[in-house]
Amino acid sequence: MGESTLRVELLYHTERPEEKVAMAAKICYSNAGITELKQGIASKDQAGFVSKLMQVGHHSPIEHASFTFGVEGVSRSLLAQITRHRLASFSVKSQRYVRESGSHGEIFDYLIPPGIAALGPKFVEEFKRQMAQMQSWYDYWLDLLAGQDTCGVKAAQEDARFVLPNATETKFVVTMNARELHHFFNLRCCNRAQWEIRNLATEMLRLAKGVAPVLFENAGPSCLQESCPEGRESCGKMQEVREKFAKLA
Ligand SMILES: Cc1cc2nc3c(=O)[nH]c(=O)nc-3n(C[C@H](O)[C@H](O)[C@H](O)COP(=O)(O)OP(=O)(O)OC[C@H]3O[C@@H](n4cnc5c(N)ncnc54)[C@H](O)[C@@H]3O)c2cc1C
Repeated sequence: MGESTLRVELLYHTERPEEKVAMAAKICYSNAGITELKQGIASKDQAGFVSKLMQVGHHSPIEHASFTFGVEGVSRSLLAQITRHRLASFSVKSQRYVRESGSHGEIFDYLIPPGIAALGPKFVEEFKRQMAQMQSWYDYWLDLLAGQDTCGVKAAQEDARFVLPNATETKFVVTMNARELHHFFNLRCCNRAQWEIRNLATEMLRLAKGVAPVLFENAGPSCLQESCPEGRESCGKMQEVREKFAKLA
């Protein structure tokens, strides 16, 4: 237990997502029946059609394709940010039901920010000591509260966790449809987003591109499609960012 790192897996996704999107879009433009449309779509590659759909901004059909990711090795700080995305669905490891420590004196899992890691081993050790200190505070309250008649283990865990830091590792399953993913990638793949959620969003985009390359062809920070919306806050690295996402297949 202790230091943790990001791991993301694309667990499930809509079967043949681009075909499904094409089916949903074509019903808007055709007088044909469902069976006829379905046969037409299955018999022909839909890449050009889906690509055109994305270019003209007809985005509601892409809501029919959804993607479920398993995420671990991220901080509670990241959790606070990603759960602001209201069109996503989440299931998160509970700090009420799950004890935040190993049973043999281990320390809860946590993330070390790169800014602290860059300061060198002496400061990393200091950070680790602080985490161990917080574990001892947590254990103190857990033991004390669990010993009270009025307080079971779950209630003790839900109160003891108040002394744990934002660095505490968490795990969750998240599902978003392709339209929400595009929006999420616009905001969170941007250099202005915080490093941890940017790394997660970029990895999710790489995985989504792997199964739906046309649907996510131009996905990424807003500056891939237009000038930077950040104005004076811009990172000023638009060319570099465009090259990075062009290589992300
Ligand atoms: C770089 C960065 C810095 C940030 N800093 C802060 C900060 O300091 N403080 C802070 O509180 N937050 C901050 N946020 C979070 C931000 O304010 C949003 O809550 C978060 O990005 C989710 O965006 P969203 O609401 O567009 O997306 P989602 O919730 O994913 O919604 C997608 C879209 O659906 C529509 N929508 C969803 N719900 C509604 C609704 N109820 N009514 C109308 N339309 C709706 C909107 O068009 C919205 O853009 C920051 C975000 C970023 C990317």
